[in-house]
Formats: sequence, C-alpha cells, structure tokens
Amino acid sequence: MESVRELLIEQMRDLYDAEKQLVKALPKLAKTASNEQLKEAFESHLEQTRGHVERLEQAFELLDQKAKSKPCEAMKGLVEEGKATMEEDLTDALMDSAIIGAAQKVEHYEIAGYGTLKSWARSLGLDEVAELLEATLEEEKEADQKLTQVAGDILIEARADDEGLEEAESSPRKSAGGAKTGNGARVRRRAS
Ligand code: ZN
Ligand code: FE
Ligand code: FE
Repeated sequence: MESVRELLIEQMRDLYDAEKQLVKALPKLAKTASNEQLKEAFESHLEQTRGHVERLEQAFELLDQKAKSKPCEAMKGLVEEGKATMEEDLTDALMDSAIIGAAQKVEHYEIAGYGTLKSWARSLGLDEVAELLEATLEEEKEADQKLTQVAGDILIEARADDEGLEEAESSPRKSAGGAKTGNGARVRRRAS
C-alpha cells in the first residue's frame, strides 16, 4: 500500500513538471498556428493547463506533500520535437497539421499518465485525489478530440493548397511542353 502511494507521489511530480513545461510551450504553438480554430484550441488548452498545475497542487496538499516537481524527460523530448517542427519551412496548412501531430503526442502522454495515476489513487481509496486527476484526464481527452476535429478541417485546406499548387505547376509546364514533369506522381496520388 505504502509503496503505491510513494509511486503515485513520484509520478505526480513528473506530471507537475510536464504541465509546467506545457504552460511555457503552448503559447509558442498558439503563435505558430495559422488556423483560427487551432490558435483558439491552443489558447484555451493553455488556460486548462494552468488549471492542471493547480489541481496537482491541490492533490499534493491532500497527500500532505509539498508540491515538488521531478524533471519529466519525456515531455522535454516531446517539446523539443515540437520546437524542431516549428522551425521547419512548411506551408501554413502543413505547419498546422505538423504541430497538431506534435501536440497530440503530448496529450496522449498526459492521458496515459493521468489514467494510470487516477487508478492508483482509486485503489488507495484516495477518492478526492482520484477526482482531481480524473477531472484533468477528461480535459486532456477533450483537448485531444478537439485537435483531431481541427486536424480534419486543416487537411482539407492542405489538400486545397496542394491542388492549387498542382494547377500552378502543371499548366505552365504543359504549355511549355513539359507536361510529364512531376505530373505522373501527382495524378497517381490523386487516383489512389
Ligand atoms: Zn494537462
Ligand atoms: Fe514523464
Ligand atoms: Fe494537455
């Protein structure tokens, strides 16, 4: 019993650090996003994330523990990958798609973390702690679903960009007599 409790506290420290890293990272994602809905999704999740930090502080208090963080190397890695993505030279719709991918990895990491800790807290009979963890878990899931929804809209945009590019590239080439250049692959992809 005692050891699961210790494990719970240790993993809460990991998530506490992870959430604090995200409070710093989310504004950059919001700034990079071109799609208005995506920008808003990141901004509203930033607000929620501040709440996640507070819920963990409440949970530490319930456990008579100081709110301490333990460096979350996994989140550090995910944030670094996200930063590298933001430095890439991509069209707006592709950049939005790429940062959604990075953000969803983050949400899934959190979902796994909170899901596990919620179960541990329940098994220890720490219902108030479990409820705090569960409330955050639900918001992480909603954030993930929202990203999935926005991603769908953006992929339609990305495809439209792609087809616009296709027209711009293929018509002058055609009139210049270079009809086959690059066209085969695009046509094949469209047919698939
Ligand atoms: Zn969170
Ligand atoms: Fe971690
Ligand atoms: Fe999150």
